[in-house]
Amino acid sequence: MSDRKQKLQDAMAALGLGSHPQCLINGILTEGTGADVQLVDPFTEEVLLTYPDAGEALATKACEAAQNAQVGWAKGISAAARGQVMQNIVGIVLANVEPLATIEAIVAGKPIRDCRIEVAKVAEMFAYYAGWADKLHGEVIPVPSGHLNYTQREPLGVVFQITPWNAPIFTAGWQIAPAIATGNGVVIKPSELTPITTVALVKLAESVGLPDGLVNVLCGLGPTSGQAAIAHAAVRKVVFVGSPETGKRVAVAAAKALKPAVLELGGKSANIVFDDANLEHACLGAQAAIFSGAGQSCVAGSRLLVHKSVHAELVDMLSKGMNNIKLGDPLDDATEIGPISNARQFAHVSDMVALAKNEGASILTRSDTQDQGYFVPPTILTGLSNGTKAAQQEIFGPVVTAIPFEDESDAIELANATDFGLAGAVWTADVGRAHRMADAVRAGTFWINSYKAIHVSSPFGGSLSSGFGRSSGTDALMEYTSAKSVWLDSAPKPRIAFGYVS
Ligand code: NAD
Repeated sequence: MSDRKQKLQDAMAALGLGSHPQCLINGILTEGTGADVQLVDPFTEEVLLTYPDAGEALATKACEAAQNAQVGWAKGISAAARGQVMQNIVGIVLANVEPLATIEAIVAGKPIRDCRIEVAKVAEMFAYYAGWADKLHGEVIPVPSGHLNYTQREPLGVVFQITPWNAPIFTAGWQIAPAIATGNGVVIKPSELTPITTVALVKLAESVGLPDGLVNVLCGLGPTSGQAAIAHAAVRKVVFVGSPETGKRVAVAAAKALKPAVLELGGKSANIVFDDANLEHACLGAQAAIFSGAGQSCVAGSRLLVHKSVHAELVDMLSKGMNNIKLGDPLDDATEIGPISNARQFAHVSDMVALAKNEGASILTRSDTQDQGYFVPPTILTGLSNGTKAAQQEIFGPVVTAIPFEDESDAIELANATDFGLAGAVWTADVGRAHRMADAVRAGTFWINSYKAIHVSSPFGGSLSSGFGRSSGTDALMEYTSAKSVWLDSAPKPRIAFGYVS
């Protein structure tokens, strides 16, 4: 067994998992029944593990288990007790950062230093929503009839969450924490390419008081396990994080069963640099915006819009800077960019760079190459107009298109000339302009002289092809609950006057 496979096995054993991915249904690690799925190490390209897709029967079991456990979780214990269990999860996650980060680094190919941060952020998410568990209350509404009218926020029941491969445990925590804080049961299907840390997270949570069956994990494929769970009668809402193409399929399947969906999809975000900006800061920001995580981030600053007077200078700074970024083994503490996470995405990014070339792009990239793995070096595309496919389609890799603009109105027009509406940023020393840009650019998240700052306490989401609905913050509490309006008539006689009420 290779050293990396051994490290993976050791980390899985440390977390109480078996030697290959299994579903977690009703607190029990359960073997799937579907077709085989392979996990491949994106750094060595060796097959790490094979496991069976969950399949329809397990999807049904998972939904039933969540339905049964949810009743006791929502009504059988106090909201404060729910919060306490979630606080316990914070502690157990922080005590297991290393094995969780190791699995993520090997299977997803993400630098281990980023993985450690993401695991710590998962703990932060449970801490934040633990605090909300007993603070979510309704309102008293002064209705004109004089009735006492009040609202209460009710859990939906069972929610089904589907997550992608680019930040597996981060996305799992991001969606599970608000869902259970508000009293819901959960079935979650991580990407078939990165299922292990989601199973580990829920198993750890169960070891510190999360009721068995409240959160169930389906390891496997979307068209089989995923679609079966969407269709199950117990599921009351679908929350999907992934690509726009799959998002449409998920939303259509949910709509057919009259279920609401939240869609957190892709982006082609504009990172806008004016000539009055601190160019050194803007350059560092632009690097982080597109090269961190090898660009496999939904909010990646993949369109760099630069005022024409500083365009050449900033591109030059960026291309010099990208030569200093450390590419390499995700398990190496010093690595800043790992490989692309899987073969399918590697092919897509490579195809998009070839497409950009055909569209007339000049390509600036690093000369050094890695001798193994799905590596794409940091790459800058210039000479493309905003209307080209390379400037419009999500690449989801370390590839940025740099486009010059004339003035403020041109920058706004270019920034908004996209099907997406997820994120954006402006770099400028002019406070008034910064706020005008924040107001004018269509984006669910917008940064001023910054990029990629996010926190569980602040809402996150997009519009158009970036999806709809909001995660994080108090908005997620609303997504995972519905309002019930209660009316009490305190008048001496009922005021619903039909024949027999005098
Ligand atoms: P994907 O759409 O291929 O897969 C996402 C999930 O959907 C996986 O779990 C997959 O198994 C499942 N799936 C696939 N087909 C399905 C079907 N027919 N029915 C039900 N489920 C199905 O996306 P990906 O390649 O894993 O992730 C990359 C995409 O995710 C990018 O577009 C990125 O921008 C997006 N993303 C968005 C956010 C956000 O918050 N907006 C965050 C991270 C990633």
